[in-house]
Amino acid sequence: MGLLTTGRPLGWWDAQPHLDYVREHGIEQFVNVFCATRDRQGDVLKWGDEIEYTLLVLNESERCTYLSLRAPQVIQELQSEERLVSRNSLADVQEHVTGESELSEFDSAPVPETLWRPEYANWMVEGTPGVPYSCYMRDLVLVEQNMALRRAQIRRVLRPNERLLSLTAYPLLGCGRFCEPAGDGVCGPLARSLYLPDAVINPHPRFGTLTRNIRLRRGEPVAIHVPLYRDKSTPSEIPLWEGGSRHGGVVDIDLHQIVDEKLATTSLSQDNTDQNVGSVRSDEAVRRQRLAWSLSQASSDTELVLVPIEAPSVDGPERPEALDAQHDGLGYLCEKAGLASWNERNRDGRHTSPDIYMDAMGFGMGLCCLQITLQAANMDEGRYLYDQLAVLAPVMLALTAATPALRGFLTDTDVRWSIISASVDDRTALERALGCPPKSRYSSIDCFISNRPEMKAALYNDIPVLVDARAYRRLREAGVDEHLARHVAHLFIRDPLVIFDDFATVDDRVSLTHFENIQSTNWNTVRFKPPSQTGPNTSAGWRTEFRSMELQITDFENAAFTVFMVLLSRCILAFGMNLYIPISKHDENLVTAHQRDAVRQGKFWFRKHIFSREAELSCSVRCHYRCACGSEHCVSFQSLNAGSPAGSQSSPSQSCPFRFCTDPDPEAMELMTIDEIMNGKPCCEKHAFRKAYPGLLTLVRVYLDAIPGLDRATRMRLGAYLDFVAARSSGRLLTCAAWMREFILKHPSYRHDSKVTPEACYDLIQRCIELSEGRCGEPALLGDFWPEHHIDGELTSHDFSKLRNQIHEEDSPQLRGE
Ligand code: ADP
Ligand code: MG
Ligand code: MG
Ligand code: MG
Ligand code: MG
Repeated sequence: MGLLTTGRPLGWWDAQPHLDYVREHGIEQFVNVFCATRDRQGDVLKWGDEIEYTLLVLNESERCTYLSLRAPQVIQELQSEERLVSRNSLADVQEHVTGESELSEFDSAPVPETLWRPEYANWMVEGTPGVPYSCYMRDLVLVEQNMALRRAQIRRVLRPNERLLSLTAYPLLGCGRFCEPAGDGVCGPLARSLYLPDAVINPHPRFGTLTRNIRLRRGEPVAIHVPLYRDKSTPSEIPLWEGGSRHGGVVDIDLHQIVDEKLATTSLSQDNTDQNVGSVRSDEAVRRQRLAWSLSQASSDTELVLVPIEAPSVDGPERPEALDAQHDGLGYLCEKAGLASWNERNRDGRHTSPDIYMDAMGFGMGLCCLQITLQAANMDEGRYLYDQLAVLAPVMLALTAATPALRGFLTDTDVRWSIISASVDDRTALERALGCPPKSRYSSIDCFISNRPEMKAALYNDIPVLVDARAYRRLREAGVDEHLARHVAHLFIRDPLVIFDDFATVDDRVSLTHFENIQSTNWNTVRFKPPSQTGPNTSAGWRTEFRSMELQITDFENAAFTVFMVLLSRCILAFGMNLYIPISKHDENLVTAHQRDAVRQGKFWFRKHIFSREAELSCSVRCHYRCACGSEHCVSFQSLNAGSPAGSQSSPSQSCPFRFCTDPDPEAMELMTIDEIMNGKPCCEKHAFRKAYPGLLTLVRVYLDAIPGLDRATRMRLGAYLDFVAARSSGRLLTCAAWMREFILKHPSYRHDSKVTPEACYDLIQRCIELSEGRCGEPALLGDFWPEHHIDGELTSHDFSKLRNQIHEEDSPQLRGE
């Protein structure tokens, strides 16, 4: 989750006087890096993936699984290699300088081949390649190998009953005793969750502070409502505690604290709760139920009138006015919550919700994803790529869907995005009611940022973008152009959530700490990363990060989506593709992406014409089109201008079907399925291909075939990745979400009530482990695609280094960007 600083974090109320300081200096830091690097040119392509792994404990005799909270120790062990290597490479460098040692070929510049970072939850381990990949074509086949290496490395430091999975969502998160060790009860001081103990939160102070401060800024615990998948025996409402702590026997609620907090939050929002509308009102209803339930959880002999409501735990200069004595007291609180006669209500079975209710940051930030960061040649390219990848984010989210169940229930959605969005929504009730700001800090982007002529701001930036006026003025004054200034000033409407006590010691000329404080808590579908001036990554240029994809079970799948995105990014640049649609349409796409089975049933806004200029496809490639009329067509693509490149062996071609912008409306959009977006949309009328939309995968194949000298093995491997992505796109292969849902629905323990039984979860996890270790196949999910490397736990970083050095020594063709 980026940015881990040392120092002691300030409490939320202590931080209040310094919020503007951080914003102001964050902007200065951005201005400094902008001025220093705006004209930086010619950075080569570098790129890398990030995978968040989940640690589990498997109890084979009882046939149940728990989330293992041992990630901090596991990371500690994993990083020992990293530390060792950096020590050694220092020594090597010294030896090299003094000429005292003959270094062997691939020991000469040892680098750690994997890097490990903590993530939000204590069951999460984030792994990335040790060095970013480069522009070599054959680096693309290293991806799966490196993923296998990461898996092998984690496996080596696990205990015998521990397992790892690349899993987006653990289905029983928050159900009873779901983690090992069990944690010290729910309703802890950080999350105040009825389901998740604070023990799940990574001990680095950043994470706990984020949790607490989001809750305090919002004025109440976060509220996540996910539609429930309805089966024939699903009750209309599900108890709030179903699967929750009551069943696990972990009832350890500090009533005083809850009431205390409740008072603070109720008072904070009292001026507006009555006028609240829509979702805010339903939050309010849940709030009442929550409180009622919390109270009913207290042992029956608790004298509630004796619970003292003294000075609230909030203090400091910004303490809200409304917390004055007049509101103190449980009577007020219960009345406010509509619970004057709470003890007459039943203690059981009445506190229900029609959807799956979750109440903690961990339900969102505990979900795992696949991210890809790409370095651009210069700022302009990075900004163009940012815009283009933003449009693709909803499509790739739907295509990689892997979130069919949460808190023990099947969901009626397939993806994680809106859950995380709600889990860190720090807006107050008033801000949410007024829609100001309109979105959570975790959301799709609000504006495109490129200055290229393709970016028609008046057309595409069509939703209101709030900016921090002071930040905007300063950025413009410093020479930042309008689009970028708007983007950055928009990030800066948010409060810094974690301020460390050494915040004032930062040097704005070299550090990006304050900028990153804001940037790293604006969790968007894409992120534009400025060059870093200090730290281990000093050489990094302008980068674009693609953040929407869900995590797949096997390395093969994750590698396939990673490779596809990297190749597609090259196509976008090489072919001058233009994917712009208005942000409002892109936001509609993100909603569509959440629909169950969106990959087969959803329709996404997409441009009819995706080339802004007559692209020069110097290649020739044959493509198969399944026409809507039912017949199969084979078409050869021939370059518009040039002939086919040397070495290409295609049959004589028909005319190229890529005819660009003959449509009277070059901006025309239409609703397309993911199959059409990815695999193409032939124009069926008289089989006329002249206006066909070719499909992103087709373009990637065209691009690949235009690379001279690509060896056959590499081409085959990349082809397998693309074929796999094509099969997922067409619906021939199931998404992870669909496959897991089916697995749960078909499990003998399933009672048609939308509940994920512990037995089903155990069997599902077992199957996922087998799949990820290459010990079984799953035709519905993977077809007959095969993993590159059998994971036997033996792959070492030494093997990997050797492989990488080999590739780089041979004359491997390179990815082209322009
Ligand atoms: P964050 O969590 O902030 O996104 P990480 O350090 O976890 O950052 O991940 C960064 C990713 O970017 C990794 O996949 C890494 O390999 C990759 N990367 C590192 N340096 C560069 C670079 N110069 N250009 C592009 N990608 C890079
Ligand atoms: Mg991460
Ligand atoms: Mg991150
Ligand atoms: Mg990261
Ligand atoms: Mg990242």
